[in-house]
Parts: sequence; C-alpha cells; structure tokens
Amino acid sequence: MSNLSRRTLLGTAAAAAGSGAISAVGLTTTLPGTAAAAMPPASGRQVPGVYRYKIGAFEITALTDGVWLRKIDEGFVRNAKLDEVKSALAAAFLPTEAVPIPFTAVVINTGAKLIMIDTGFGNSGPPSAGQIAAGLAAAGIEPDAITNVVISHFHPDHISGVRAKDGALIYPNAEVMVPEPEWAFWMDDNRAAGAPEGLKGNFANARRVFGPNAKDVTRFKWGQEVVTGITAIEAPGHTPGHTAFALSSENDHLLVLSDVTNVPFLFVRNPDWQVMFDMDGDQAQSTRHRLLDMAATDRMQVGGYHFPFPATGHIAKDGSGYQLVPAMWQANL
Ligand SMILES: [Zn+2]
Repeated sequence: MSNLSRRTLLGTAAAAAGSGAISAVGLTTTLPGTAAAAMPPASGRQVPGVYRYKIGAFEITALTDGVWLRKIDEGFVRNAKLDEVKSALAAAFLPTEAVPIPFTAVVINTGAKLIMIDTGFGNSGPPSAGQIAAGLAAAGIEPDAITNVVISHFHPDHISGVRAKDGALIYPNAEVMVPEPEWAFWMDDNRAAGAPEGLKGNFANARRVFGPNAKDVTRFKWGQEVVTGITAIEAPGHTPGHTAFALSSENDHLLVLSDVTNVPFLFVRNPDWQVMFDMDGDQAQSTRHRLLDMAATDRMQVGGYHFPFPATGHIAKDGSGYQLVPAMWQANL
C-alpha cells in the first residue's frame, strides 16, 4: 500500500481497461469465463431517490424531485463576483459553469397524520424533475394517503406538484395549508395584474395550483402549530411569506429550512451572498443568519429543500460562514 502512487493507480486502471482484467492494488485477477455477454448493460438512469430517518417518534421520508443544472452567470449571486462563485463551486468539487440545484420534499408520519412539506414540480417542471411520484411508489406511500400538504412558499418548484397539468389534485385527500402572508401576496389580483414580466408566470402558476380549490385552502400564521408537532417559523425574504418549519417529537427536533438558503456549498458557506431567486435580498440575508445561527447554536438537525439528497444534516459555524455537515445514514429506524 505504501508504494501506491498516482501513477500506479492510473497505470492499473489503463491496464484493466485494455485487458478486460480486474485490477486492484497489486492484485490482478483474470476471471475465467468473463465473456462480454455475461455483463448486464448499464441502466442509464438513476434509481428512485428515497431516504428515511427518524426525528423522535416522527418518521421522515425524504423524496428527491430531481436536480436542475442551472448555468451560472454574473447575476446568479447578486452581490458576489462570478470568479468568487466559481471558486466556491470548485472548492466543493463541482463544475464551475452550472450549479446543480436539487429539489427534496419530505413526508412526515407523525403517527396521527401523513404530512408532505412542499410538493416538487409534479409534471409541470423541467424534464430532469418530476421524480416524486416514483419515490412515493418506491416508499410504499399512496398519494391518497397524504392527509396534509404544507407549503413553504409559492415558487413553482414547491407548489406545482399540488395539481397535475390536467387539473387533477395529486393528493386528493390532503388538506392544503399555506402561509397566510404568502397567500396574501401571490393571490392579490391587483398585484398580479401589475406584476413585472419576470414574476407573471409565478402569479399565474399560483392561480393554476390553488385557484380551483381556493376556499378549501387553509392559511396559517407564523408561530402557529400547523399540525401537532410542526410549527411555522417566520422566514421572509426569499419570498414575502416564505416559511421554515420546526418539527418536534420526544425532545428531538428538525428545522426545515425550506429556501432560507439555496445550495449550501454557496449560501450556507457564504450566508451574505444573495441568490437571484431571493425577492428581498437583504431580508433573506438577515433571515438566513438568524436561522443558521439558531441551528448551529442549538445543534438542531436541519433539512434544506435545495441541499444535496437526502437533504439533511447539521449546521456548523466556520469562519464568517457555516458548513453543512451531513447527517449519518440511519440504517435502522
Ligand atoms: Zn426553491
């Protein structure tokens, strides 16, 4: 092992590729009968992204909706230079031309309710999204078993999956629950009519999603326990009514950060950076500091909608920013 060098590794890899042999550190074995026909073809697609963990007695199922590769340019982070952003991506071992932005919703089984927080795109998003249905099937959760759909804010990656393109509710038995200030902002017809071009699509989508059942949509306030064990936390800035959630069960806690930060390798690391999606950048920045500081100080486990799957971990102070420390895989629940 001590003689292992980069050249040795590259050399054995090249030899293996050339000879059809399996090479490992100092050991070369040619398996008999390894004809090409015995090798199954690569599937070319990912398996459903589902992961379970416990918070007290609550069972959380994290469901990926997919990943969006967003090309970055000078405006992606409003108040940082493109070079600094690229350096942060390189430091996280990521490509520097485009940011992978994952989407992860959670379903919480409290023992009394089965609650989904945010819904992904449903079938209305980019082709790389829309994976939650496959995840639910893999997890053995029937869409009609969801009792509550709780929404953090009205951006399409969080609400479009409430309703399919054909107009059908995807979770037909669920009570849909939304932050009061978010509803007040996006469902205001005068504001929708006067919206800048860049926001018109979001206003229209909020109407598509909630309009047909508007009278049945429950609105909650910040500080309110939305469902037993799940409290809405004031977190404006990303949008006017943007909401985080505190889950509590048996003295265990999860802070669902929603979009308090976008991808952590940029915005947990640099909480003063303002992503272009933050509607009020300064307010989002102060919300981000408040909640990341709370998570770090109280050593709370967190979830983040745009964190790498399974989108949960801890927040540690690091210089002027923070680090996301992934949570240990829970092999048994
Ligand atoms: Zn989002």
